[in-house]
Amino acid sequence: MSHSTASRVALVAVVGAGPAGIYATRKLTEAGHAVVLLNRDVRPGGLAEYGIYFNKYSMKAGLRKQFRKILETRSVHYVGNTTVGTDADISLAQMRELLRPDAIVIAAGAQGTKRLAIPGESATGVIHAKELVYHYNGLPPFSERAMPVGNNVIVVGIGNVMVDVAHYLIHELRVHSCTALARRGPGQRAYTNAEIKAVSANIDADSLAAEIARIGPQLLAAGEDPQGLLAELLRFRDEPPPEGSSPTRLRFRFLSQPVAIIVDAFGAVAGARVERTRLDRRGDELLARGTGVYDDLAADTVILAIGDRADARLGLPFAGSAYVTRPSEDPVNPGDEAYQCYDPAAAAVLPGVFVAGWSRRASEGLVGKARQDGERAAAVVNRYLSGVAPASADPNERVKALRDELTRQGRRVVTFDDVLRLQAREAAEAERRGREYFRFATNAEMLAAATPN
Ligand SMILES: Cc1cc2nc3c(=O)[nH]c(=O)nc-3n(C[C@H](O)[C@H](O)[C@H](O)COP(=O)(O)OP(=O)(O)OC[C@H]3O[C@@H](n4cnc5c(N)ncnc54)[C@H](O)[C@@H]3O)c2cc1C
Repeated sequence: MSHSTASRVALVAVVGAGPAGIYATRKLTEAGHAVVLLNRDVRPGGLAEYGIYFNKYSMKAGLRKQFRKILETRSVHYVGNTTVGTDADISLAQMRELLRPDAIVIAAGAQGTKRLAIPGESATGVIHAKELVYHYNGLPPFSERAMPVGNNVIVVGIGNVMVDVAHYLIHELRVHSCTALARRGPGQRAYTNAEIKAVSANIDADSLAAEIARIGPQLLAAGEDPQGLLAELLRFRDEPPPEGSSPTRLRFRFLSQPVAIIVDAFGAVAGARVERTRLDRRGDELLARGTGVYDDLAADTVILAIGDRADARLGLPFAGSAYVTRPSEDPVNPGDEAYQCYDPAAAAVLPGVFVAGWSRRASEGLVGKARQDGERAAAVVNRYLSGVAPASADPNERVKALRDELTRQGRRVVTFDDVLRLQAREAAEAERRGREYFRFATNAEMLAAATPN
């Protein structure tokens, strides 16, 4: 009895084949477990495919190569084009029933939308950055929708996603102006030097100098150095723009928080009303505090690059912007509990259900961080599985039961062989067109290219 239990292979269902889910898969298979990876998108990679800016070809190709090695492992079963959740292709409960997984890892990224909760937010011309990013990176259904952007755009946020959006507005759409709107000051910008270089040549230096002069007294009051910050912001401005010149003026508006979207008589964006803020020191941090002074900024499009939240419709207890995890006695350095899903109503962990990557901490960090988080989650799962007897049925049979049921329901379940066929056809198409890279942007085209002749 103990011999047969020890020789059984546990099956882990990983929901989401982005970096967190894929790197978790590697650690799980290295521990001897089988993994079934259910992924909403046809192709694996998540934001490594559909978030990272499209011209970072070598970075994307490098990640694709690593992912391929993991997904080609014999004990890994890829089930693409399959969304898990309430109102989706398969619910968590159905998935559990068909697969009888020994553990589940939710690595579905942050698919929910964060809102500002201000008047006018649903006006035509308010766009969430993720929708635009998915659109220009070719992810259906966003790639199949028109996403009209005007000529004078405010981008709310001052992180790398704002820079990627500005990059697209400057070099692809060549809009007239793009204004990054930040609640705090230039010293609290969250974007990195590596990213801002792509758009620095477009910074409107006169307008930036005027903006720093406008907020100079507040910066000085908070112990900041206005002229030093101005020099930092302009550091890469005179470097030749890697993608050639563009007429777009990139501007910044600091110490200002949006309080309403201004909407015209046709329900379209006409601007943003902002409240001026000042910086208040709290320990090591400088926080923004409203001052009760308001300004109206004209714009025809407002793009919200304020981060995302996990998808509340997955069917797990949800609070704030994430799935609920087991409360920790040490919130600064939590242990395994930070990865264990928890039902607050029952005051109990959901046995065998874990969470990783941006599903655990929405919009936090780059691929390296998602990888680290996926690997940490896998270590927690491996510890958990060392204490439970795996289900007796063969993992291959259980995966087949899931695939058969999805197919019976009319789903075109995508295998990793399908993905390889799709990638080969896209590579051939790129060559035919003399382009560095090409990919199909509709599910119909992708599925046709993935299907053997
Ligand atoms: C605009 C932008 C640019 C970025 N640029 C860079 C960069 O240049 N360099 C860098 O290192 N990092 C970059 N990042 C960050 C990086 O992409 C993330 O850190 C990383 O992808 C997060 O990994 P994840 O696996 O947690 O989530 P994701 O990458 O979001 O993967 C989630 C996966 O889950 C699947 N999924 C979602 N919902 C479901 C469901 N209900 N059922 C089944 N499957 C589901 C999705 O199809 C997806 O494959 C960028 C992020 C963004 C938003």
